Amino acid sequence: MIYLDNAATTMLSPEVLDSMVPFLGQQYGNASGVYALARASRKAVEQARRAVASAIGADAKEVFFTGSGTESDNWALRGMMEGMAGGHVITTAVEHHAVLNTCRWLEQQGHRITYLAVDGEGIVSPDDVRHAITENTRLISVMAANNEIGTLQPIAEIGAVAREHGIPMHVDAVQAAGTIAIDINAWQADLLSLSAHKVHGPKGVGVLYVRGKTPIKPLLVGGAQEMGRRAGTENVAGIVGMGTAMRLAQENRATATPRIKTLRDRLMNGILDGIPGAHLNGSATQRLCSNINVHFDDVEGEALLLRLDLAGIAASSGAACTAGALEPSHVLVAIGRNRVQSRSAIRFSLSDLNTDEEIDEVLRVLPKLVADLRAH
Ligand SMILES: *Cc1c(COP(=O)(O)O)cnc(C)c1O
Repeated sequence: MIYLDNAATTMLSPEVLDSMVPFLGQQYGNASGVYALARASRKAVEQARRAVASAIGADAKEVFFTGSGTESDNWALRGMMEGMAGGHVITTAVEHHAVLNTCRWLEQQGHRITYLAVDGEGIVSPDDVRHAITENTRLISVMAANNEIGTLQPIAEIGAVAREHGIPMHVDAVQAAGTIAIDINAWQADLLSLSAHKVHGPKGVGVLYVRGKTPIKPLLVGGAQEMGRRAGTENVAGIVGMGTAMRLAQENRATATPRIKTLRDRLMNGILDGIPGAHLNGSATQRLCSNINVHFDDVEGEALLLRLDLAGIAASSGAACTAGALEPSHVLVAIGRNRVQSRSAIRFSLSDLNTDEEIDEVLRVLPKLVADLRAH
């Protein structure tokens, strides 16, 4: 199988798995205990915390493990807005549903949310952020890289606006973490979400970075785990896996990123130049090196995906299947694509595990499938 859906999830790296195995077996101690077995778990959790901290330029005591990127996003938004009756949040129209639906929930709680529009490439303007700020604004939440079209946001510029107005900024960096160097200080981020399974780590573990004294309330209450800010017995194996995955991403980035980009550019240009009626969604330059999102005139994305699957190629569509009905992607709508165009969108997302031969195979198969679907 040719796996080109790395924006949905990534293969667990063998090295990550190796680091986790002891904690799924003999090293089962509860990290809160005092005996040697428990201390081994504690030590492993703290080592993972330092690895994540070092990968994003943070202090270890600012790194909190969660159960997913979704939980990190929920925590950032709900934890900042709790007790802020009638507070205002600025976000964008192209966020992941973990942020967007949390914002909808906050609206039901009486908060006001501004969903900033983006330009035709999916980029939000720092000036629009500045103009949306009111005296009630309590939080700005902007993703670093879009999960559908790969657009990179000008986070450092938005961070400067946020800092200038003394408003905390949350960054959903889940999609960026694999291929982009994250520096919470360069971005001036106060809160930042990560997820292990998007960077060749295990599913079901995430991180919320919380800068120093940022006034965030806990989302999960109970025991005193995670410095009293996120209750629940630690997922030690998952946390260890996340630490290893983030360390490897950081160590490999300098070689992996240009390699992925070369593969991506060959596939992207091959599609755009070789298939008539193929159009790129998103930005040609401000784009994750791993992402391609295209739509084809007169081709249904879902039908093409099924044909690709039969040809052994795993990709993804630009639509979300909600209750059996294909809803056009909110991201494609936000960049001005119409219903038909967004229903014809396909995302290919690469990783360092993809090969030249795989790209050749896709470029051999895809034009035929598109022509075939158009003929029917
Ligand atoms: C995958 C993803 C999430 C959710 O992370 P999970 O760990 O799968 O819950 C949030 N934001 C973005 C941008 C993502 O790509």
